[in-house]
Amino acid sequence: MNLPVLYMVVPCYNEEQVLPITADLFLQELTELIKKGKISDGSRILFVNDGSRDKTWEIICGLSEKDRHFTGISQSRNRGHQNAVLAGLMDSVEKCDITISIDCDGQDDIAAMEKMVDEYRGGSEIVYGVRARRDTDTFFKKFTAESFYKLLNALGAEVVYNHADYRLISSKVLKEFAEFKEVNLFLRGMVPLVGFKSSSVYYDRQERMAGESHYPLGKMAALAFDGITSLSVRPLRMITALGIFVSVISFVGAIWAVASQLMGKTVTGWASMTCIICFLGGIQLVCLGVMGTYIGKIYMEVKHRPRYIISERTGERNEA
Ligand code: UDP
Ligand code: MG
Repeated sequence: MNLPVLYMVVPCYNEEQVLPITADLFLQELTELIKKGKISDGSRILFVNDGSRDKTWEIICGLSEKDRHFTGISQSRNRGHQNAVLAGLMDSVEKCDITISIDCDGQDDIAAMEKMVDEYRGGSEIVYGVRARRDTDTFFKKFTAESFYKLLNALGAEVVYNHADYRLISSKVLKEFAEFKEVNLFLRGMVPLVGFKSSSVYYDRQERMAGESHYPLGKMAALAFDGITSLSVRPLRMITALGIFVSVISFVGAIWAVASQLMGKTVTGWASMTCIICFLGGIQLVCLGVMGTYIGKIYMEVKHRPRYIISERTGERNEA
């Protein structure tokens, strides 16, 4: 069997502080794997600059001059992590046999790549990087992150527990994945839908080597809601069930009200009336909001805008 060509896909947004540190670590791992005869020398590290405002792109260009294993593409503007990863994957699909997507901050254990490649050589087409422990995360981050996976699964978006976007995907799977044309991207929920043989590799999550997280709580909640509404219609079913439940209670309430009236036991009833109006008003607004989210997504999908636009490239001559 020919040695597989590996492309590491590394999204970078305003990472000038950490990139010079981790770029060397990625290169070390790549050369190690080449030396061990696990991947071909045509393997590359592909940085995807996601419209950074700092010196990230200059650093990437410098790296590609320095070593032929580095290449880079730049998005025409900031489009977010998911789109950056997609751009990198789609750009490398024709050039390689396997891709591994990994964040550029060194939080994901780079050494786990060897196990991923071994799994691939053992027949897996997708290998999920799963965090075994979260010791270095603060209690708050750990709690919110774990609630995130539980909420996603409870609402019908199936994701691999404690797996983010560190994963190996073969180009065979990527070619099928390219047919998933949606613009609302939630890669970790979409990849399992493609199928094929998959497995997991466990690793310990580290602290960021430098710079700051781009995923504060608000963005994480938005990602969870996005994931749920992209992958599942369960919230629509839940509000339907809620509507039926409230209708039944209202029906009983109405009978009670008429009966009380007939028996001449009516009271002023202001408080109960107000409560019911508020309750129903609230529920209706929530339901409208959920439905509105789905309609908004349909709106975005029918426009069918490009999911990424590559404006610049570096290190093309480095490509095998
Ligand atoms: N990232 C990106 N575009 C963005 C935000 C983040 O490409 O708009 C990249 C970032 O450079 C990093 C990865 O996505 O490589 C994960 O981001 P971060 O480490 O800030 O998130 P966290 O690990 O804290 O969830
Ligand atoms: Mg990070």
